[in-house]
Amino acid sequence: MAQSNTAQAVLHADVPCPGCGCLCDDLTIEIADNQLVSLQPDCPLAATYFEQKSITAADCQIDGKSATLETAIEAAAKMIQSAETPLFFGLGETTSETVRRVIDLADRAGGIVDAAHPSFFDPSGRIVQTTGMVTCSLGEIRHRADLVIFWGCDPQTTHPRHWQRYSVEATGRFVPEGRKGRHLVGIGKQNATTDACDQFISLDPTQQIAALHHLLTLALGKPSDAAKLKEQLGEAASSLADLHQRIETSKYFVVVLGDGFLRRELGRVPLELLAQYVRPLHEKTRGAVSILKPGPNWVGAGGVVASRTGYPGAAFLTQGKPQFDPDNLSAIKLLAQKRVDAAMLWEGPWLDQLPTKAKETLAQIPTVVLGHRPLSIDWTPGVFLPVARPGLSDDGTMSRMDDMPLPVRAISNSDAAPALQIVDAILKEMMA
Ligand code: SF4
Repeated sequence: MAQSNTAQAVLHADVPCPGCGCLCDDLTIEIADNQLVSLQPDCPLAATYFEQKSITAADCQIDGKSATLETAIEAAAKMIQSAETPLFFGLGETTSETVRRVIDLADRAGGIVDAAHPSFFDPSGRIVQTTGMVTCSLGEIRHRADLVIFWGCDPQTTHPRHWQRYSVEATGRFVPEGRKGRHLVGIGKQNATTDACDQFISLDPTQQIAALHHLLTLALGKPSDAAKLKEQLGEAASSLADLHQRIETSKYFVVVLGDGFLRRELGRVPLELLAQYVRPLHEKTRGAVSILKPGPNWVGAGGVVASRTGYPGAAFLTQGKPQFDPDNLSAIKLLAQKRVDAAMLWEGPWLDQLPTKAKETLAQIPTVVLGHRPLSIDWTPGVFLPVARPGLSDDGTMSRMDDMPLPVRAISNSDAAPALQIVDAILKEMMA
């Protein structure tokens, strides 16, 4: 809903924020002459997303030199068409509607699509296929959770309003006292979130698997070796046993996870063990696992790929039908092993965290990069296409970290084209 404030300024209420995976839909933003005047409530990541410098159609480039949108689209189409195995990734930076069209493009080009966040390891799609996992919406956390366990995560830093809107301070239907009605436990390394919890269990990353086996043994009522536990976990062994008892007597518990828990080097093991632990607890209480996924739309992009190809978040479209190879099909691996000969990607903060080998390949192969802010990479893309910023100057659908799709809307104008329009134009050029 937009309402006039002064002759120039327009106040936009209930604006969804693509600043992180929470996708809070309650911002109030004032815009005058297409410039942001104010943003409420305070959130450092929201401010970064909305206030970062935008780019214009004039920033369109081919090989680092200024180009018109038309010639850049032609060059992009040619680049993708002449590649044997083009890779399409970074899709969580754009809307679900655009991702849908990118899959048409990848299908036409016979390429590989990976919708996973390149630097946030999230094996939950595979766990759902194998062990199964009890998850919940952010609304369920807000309304039901009287025990919240933050394991290997720091939402105070990565998802600043999660604490306030969903997991801690919010009053809920079955937690009417809000913060007072919830017991908070932090596990892992000390951080801003664990400092604000009622209880902290310090756990070194090397102790994580032993801790999960300990909890699983308790849940299954099996005997354990006290001396070995003491050796593996030290003081944490008894703290985890106490926590298990607290979980069993809670009304509704939720284990909130971040990248300190979901470590790539351990693969699916930690999440698999946690999913196995949570399931039998439902004979005594209720609870769920909730992953603090990054934003803006990695969850939505994964969902679109799954709905179009039948596979969780990634697929080979190289042989006329979708194929899946979970252990080898990640953009990082494909780039590091030089198994792709062109790439189309959406620019984002994750690009800085790519492993060196993947960055080196990107610098060597033809690339089509789309972005809504000035590039900060140390290689020159073959084609750079400026796009409007979703949630500020472009609209569409994005999904919250709990799979809840939400509409984001354009509240200001940009002369950079919407990404969907650009992908459409590339596809048309390829089909011409
Ligand atoms: S917590 Fe995330 S979604 Fe919510 S306002 Fe802050 S950056 Fe935006």
